[in-house]
Amino acid sequence: MMTSAEAATSEDALDRIKSVVGPKGIVSDPEQLGRYIEDWHGLYAGAARLVVLPASTAEVAEVVRICSAARIPVFPQGGHTGLCGGATPSANGIVLGLARMNRILSVDPANFTITAQAGCILAEVQRAAQAADRFFPLSLGAEGTCQIGGNLSTNAGGTAVLRYGSTRDLTLGLEVVLPDGSVIEGLRSVRKDNTGYDLKHLFIGGEGTLGIITAATLKLFPRPRETETAFLGLSRLDDVMTLFARSRAASGDQLTGFELISRYGVQMALDYAPGVRDPLDAHHPWYVLLEMTSSQTGTGLRTAMEQILEEAMASGEVQDGVIASSDAQRRELWRVREGLIMGIRHQGAASKHDVSVPVDQVARFITEADAAVVRSYPGSRTLSFGHVGDGNIHYNAFGVPEADIPACHDMVNDIVLGLGGSISAEHGIGISKRHDLTRYKSPLELDVMRRIKAALDPAQIMNPGKVL
Ligand SMILES: Cc1cc2nc3c(=O)[nH]c(=O)nc-3n(C[C@H](O)[C@H](O)[C@H](O)COP(=O)(O)OP(=O)(O)OC[C@H]3O[C@@H](n4cnc5c(N)ncnc54)[C@H](O)[C@@H]3O)c2cc1C
Repeated sequence: MMTSAEAATSEDALDRIKSVVGPKGIVSDPEQLGRYIEDWHGLYAGAARLVVLPASTAEVAEVVRICSAARIPVFPQGGHTGLCGGATPSANGIVLGLARMNRILSVDPANFTITAQAGCILAEVQRAAQAADRFFPLSLGAEGTCQIGGNLSTNAGGTAVLRYGSTRDLTLGLEVVLPDGSVIEGLRSVRKDNTGYDLKHLFIGGEGTLGIITAATLKLFPRPRETETAFLGLSRLDDVMTLFARSRAASGDQLTGFELISRYGVQMALDYAPGVRDPLDAHHPWYVLLEMTSSQTGTGLRTAMEQILEEAMASGEVQDGVIASSDAQRRELWRVREGLIMGIRHQGAASKHDVSVPVDQVARFITEADAAVVRSYPGSRTLSFGHVGDGNIHYNAFGVPEADIPACHDMVNDIVLGLGGSISAEHGIGISKRHDLTRYKSPLELDVMRRIKAALDPAQIMNPGKVL
């Protein structure tokens, strides 16, 4: 409970923040406010004393300085597409959105780098790279809405990690406003920089708890000139991983995407995503969306893919398949993978997991988790899909009685840990996995994380209640 003197100071601080960002930097329209308070899924809703959208790093720094002095919590926010409640504000704080800081600062084709403000929408960064005949490989279902600052803060993965790595691997330099309002000006574009602790890695995946990323210098790549995409039906989960090993060994760096979808997932896309068609005539228990790309033309990519698939069919791994014959057909195949997410929103409460295990343990994880869930909760139904080329499975158990969901959750996570995996492969910790973090990180690791947080944010104003 604030004293009246503290309340007056706090109100005064809010007035000063308003004058820093000006009328254009305040969201006051009640219709607009909702999207800053409630997340994309509608799972996490908070409240805020103010929603501000600064227009420059200097404004972000000034707002944070005021909040630091007045002990007002700051909730950094990008596109608000995160799936763990990481950007959800609480009633005593302000939302600091980066949406107005959406300029591409430079594209350097010779150095293969792009520098962008944190509020740039991911798809805009991709387009800016393409305009310079270069390629920014980060790609995910929310790319039309999520911002590069949010991608960095969650260390987003997506569909091309197999070849290009996650956001962490794509980052060269960051500009960051610390919780006291000071600014790390680290927009370096060098690939080699062994000068002690690499501080940018604290903020990548830091979920806004250590500072606000205001700009980033990112790696670009040669633009893919040829893409081949196949949608394949398989009857056994073990064969999925054999196919992965076969296609990776045969195609090396050209294998860019390897996505698993169960029949249940394809059905969800058919039922809930408008315009999705079943790519194959017969039903199969498992499907793989396999993509290969090449930055050169005339390398025989199509022939290479056909050869891999012919061999996989001859050895009985793959039962049926289609290779996209046009860009439109390629997008149709990806629509199945992206569309199933819409189906999940209609399934009600579930034990939901975004986990990873070593690639050679994927089939074992799904088999063991399915057996355990169905045995423990008769009538429940599981859904597995994900970027299994990275060992990343989005695992969902539907129809588990609501009171049993926490126990089911722990049971699945224990299987993940038993196989040497991680309980959060992509989406982060946010609010939803804080309990899991304390269960699965060692006390020493948690202690080091808390000491880093205390060193950078002693007043605990930066995105409090998240991660730790
Ligand atoms: C349809 C759909 C598909 C998705 N697919 C994938 C996928 O394949 N792979 C994947 O990894 N994720 C995926 N996601 C999750 C989500 O899109 C990513 O986590 C994304 O990186 C979040 O970006 P955002 O701008 O929306 O961040 P927000 O949701 O706004 O914020 C996420 C976290 O980052 C912090 N943050 C945001 N901006 C900043 C900043 N500038 N400085 C400091 N902290 C900041 C917030 O405080 C919060 O903790 C998907 C989500 C949806 C809805």
